[in-house]
Amino acid sequence: MDVLADPRAPQRLRHETRMRLLEVTGVTTLTPRMRRIHLKGDMAGFAAPGHADHIKVFFFPPGVAPRAVPIGPDGAQFAPGERPQMRDYTPRAYDVDKGTLDLDFVLHGDGPAATWAAQAAIGQTLVIGGPRGSLIVPMNFDWYLLAGDETAIPALARRMAELPAGARVLAVIEVDNLSEHQPFAGAADVALTYVYRNGAAAGTGSRILDRIRTMRFPTGTAYAYVAGEAAMSRAVRAHLTEARGFNPDYVRAAGYWQRGMADAQQDH
Ligand SMILES: Cc1cc2nc3c(=O)[nH]c(=O)nc-3n(C[C@H](O)[C@H](O)[C@H](O)COP(=O)(O)OP(=O)(O)OC[C@H]3O[C@@H](n4cnc5c(N)ncnc54)[C@H](O)[C@@H]3O)c2cc1C
Repeated sequence: MDVLADPRAPQRLRHETRMRLLEVTGVTTLTPRMRRIHLKGDMAGFAAPGHADHIKVFFFPPGVAPRAVPIGPDGAQFAPGERPQMRDYTPRAYDVDKGTLDLDFVLHGDGPAATWAAQAAIGQTLVIGGPRGSLIVPMNFDWYLLAGDETAIPALARRMAELPAGARVLAVIEVDNLSEHQPFAGAADVALTYVYRNGAAAGTGSRILDRIRTMRFPTGTAYAYVAGEAAMSRAVRAHLTEARGFNPDYVRAAGYWQRGMADAQQDH
């Protein structure tokens, strides 16, 4: 879409990508299922202005010390046997001058990222890369729909915090239970509904879609950001564009993970 033709068109920015070696300076238990890892190091030039930007986090094989390597035309070059696994995370907060970055990890119990986050301790190191780019969604929509599971909370929280006073937001967040609520800062007018799994496995059921189906939407043009388990995101996108009159250009639905599949992410 042409930005000049549509003043509401989201804008893409590219960033120079490099890897950074950061040190864990603190760990905060946000909820029983979510842990904030505070990191510090060389953050010069880091930029993640989009609320749903993501970085790659690198998890090295046992016995291999985390290290940043130059990124060439064929990507990052690692010695055989030292190739790390990569997972996507949202820069929840960062300060380039102070050299700090906070990442919020869901402790879902499986996989290199969740396993690392569960044991992370002060003094350990972590390698990150990116973001490669940012998506800046204008703040001139009549209202905003935000929806997702716990993995989306960092991106949704950033959006709620950056939207100005007077912006109207409907938000639906799926968590396991009441103990997973998090405080959200911001000046926007946010109507937030939680839906609960109550012990059911994450990525099962259709709680977010079911809730959205029952919602009466305000009038005017909206932008929807939906993120979380891939089937949920896909179903919500289909509902919004096929049954609720959303402009497909104004719906971003991201599969942040996929039930039963490691290292899965998709855009719908
Ligand atoms: C753009 C983007 C931003 C993201 N931001 C964040 C973020 O800020 N915080 C965050 O916690 N996650 C975030 N995610 C999701 C995260 O990257 C995935 O959950 C990832 O799969 C975790 O890697 P892992 O090594 O823990 O598990 P994997 O090795 O990828 O998966 C192992 C198993 O765990 C399952 N699994 C993966 N994630 C979950 C989950 N959340 N709940 C239950 N089961 C799961 C998989 O289906 C698989 O069966 C983001 C994803 C994307 C694409």
